[in-house]
Amino acid sequence: MKIEPALKAPLSSRLQLALQLLEVNQGVKSWSGPVDALDILILTLLSQNTNDNLRDRAFRSLRLRFPRWEDVLAAPAQDVEAAIRNAGLSRQKAERMQALLRWVQSTFGGFDLARLQETSNDEAIELLMGQKGIGIKTAAVTLMVAFGRDLCPVDTHVHRISQRLGWVSASISAEVTYAALKPHLPPGKGYSLHMNLLQFGRTICRARKPICQRCFLWDECVWEGKGLKGESK
Ligand code: SF4
Repeated sequence: MKIEPALKAPLSSRLQLALQLLEVNQGVKSWSGPVDALDILILTLLSQNTNDNLRDRAFRSLRLRFPRWEDVLAAPAQDVEAAIRNAGLSRQKAERMQALLRWVQSTFGGFDLARLQETSNDEAIELLMGQKGIGIKTAAVTLMVAFGRDLCPVDTHVHRISQRLGWVSASISAEVTYAALKPHLPPGKGYSLHMNLLQFGRTICRARKPICQRCFLWDECVWEGKGLKGESK
């Protein structure tokens, strides 16, 4: 995928413009309030290399079999593995989950991550990323969804769209994209930008066969593979 280098206006202005167009066309996305951070962390861990439906089925099966996190920790690894089999990579995920729960218990004195709220975004992300299986996307998603932190996690959709719109070059990783966008995000709009890019990536700027003829960001797109405006590819 060849992308032209970032052109035109400064990145902060281009992000602001894209956000405005996304919100006008798809709506303003507002954080819906606190949810349990450990639930989000485990869900995100389960979501690796699978889809939302299988992730949710595995999470439900896990909580049904082990209603308390201490039960997951005390269980034989193969029982945890069996409970989350739907999500795939179940042996690896079960091992990582138990290691993560062990760390949470020893670090936070229980299975509650509320104390993360006492740390800055960068400190909380660094702390979470010290655990195996938790990358910057998982850490940022957890903080944004659970606590409403003003972050824009870079998942596969945000990464792809950032490249196609020329916000970052094609050769850099999602981790570097996150760092590159961070200082230029419209303040207070991380959640709306992330959720809108997710929706846009699922419905219009899809990985394969993007629907460029319906794209309201067409003028901003620098991707050489983009389709014609208002015409089928
Ligand atoms: S023009 Fe096509 S490739 Fe470019 S942002 Fe829009 S949908 Fe994506």
